[in-house]
Amino acid sequence: MKQIVILATGGTIAGAAPDPRQTAGYRAGALPIQSLMAALPDLGGLATVAGEQLYAIDSKDIAEEHWLILARRVGELAADRQVDGIVVTHGTDTLEETAYFLNLVVRTDKPVVLVGAMRPATALSADGPMNLYAALRTAAADGARGQGVLVVMNDQISAAREVTKRHAGNVATFGPGEFGFLGEVGPAGPVFYRSPTRRHTTASAFDIAAIDRLPAVEIVYGHAGMSPLFVDAAIAGGVAGLVYAGTGDGTIHQAVLASLVAARAAGIAVVRASRTGGGRVVAGAALDDAGLDFVAADTLNPQKARVLLQLGLTQGSARARLQHLFDTH
Ligand code: ASP
Repeated sequence: MKQIVILATGGTIAGAAPDPRQTAGYRAGALPIQSLMAALPDLGGLATVAGEQLYAIDSKDIAEEHWLILARRVGELAADRQVDGIVVTHGTDTLEETAYFLNLVVRTDKPVVLVGAMRPATALSADGPMNLYAALRTAAADGARGQGVLVVMNDQISAAREVTKRHAGNVATFGPGEFGFLGEVGPAGPVFYRSPTRRHTTASAFDIAAIDRLPAVEIVYGHAGMSPLFVDAAIAGGVAGLVYAGTGDGTIHQAVLASLVAARAAGIAVVRASRTGGGRVVAGAALDDAGLDFVAADTLNPQKARVLLQLGLTQGSARARLQHLFDTH
């Protein structure tokens, strides 16, 4: 029988409210992993399951220390021959960033599956127990090996690099945008239809064993009526990198371009992403990235571009190297 470990970190899947009608204003991360496991059905021959409470937070408050703690524990468990797969329960707000971070730093081909819920555990029709069950089935599936870190929500399996939270309240909030789901968890269990092509886990350029801190990277959101205020503040604040969530294909408002050039001249890495939620920001297409010494984020959304930039900066800030990482991860 497979051995799966659940690492609990909090979130709405462990949320509790006094009234079962309440789907807002509850306390995320209120319930311990034992009570989430108690809501599961008899797993029959699927797997034996152990639970560990790593921390209990609302994922809107996640910080770099949480990622490092989680990645190290996932790495230890993955190295344990007794363990076949790992499930991480997590709040949905930043689940996509944690999933992509793990996808880039955990060196294993064992299944690592993130799962959350949109309704607290105390709600009518709470989605957590079924999501957790689907995540366990996925973590126990042979087809999940080598697929990189996965996100299972609402019976759908997505790749960590692509998945994003698309809706503030609906249980069908997670999806991989224009890339499509990797598979689904149907009545007969998980089925995979495709695999990620970008470097991840065992083929990643990064390894959690070599990372003890992450450089400061901020996101600046481009918009009509832009001013240089936040970029100038980031330079003054001493950040190591900036992701500019640009309009369209990562275009930059003329009011802020000089400040971004000054940021780069001060040694800050500048990555252009798109605020549109789809499509690719291509190096050298909308702007002369080589001349400006900027990096294009490819199809990563700004929050995932931030994760990759933080990791990339642990290996230096040369444009060619960073662009290579964005082209391959
Ligand atoms: N704020 C919650 C969290 O991210 C939302 C959720 O889990 O759905 O922890």
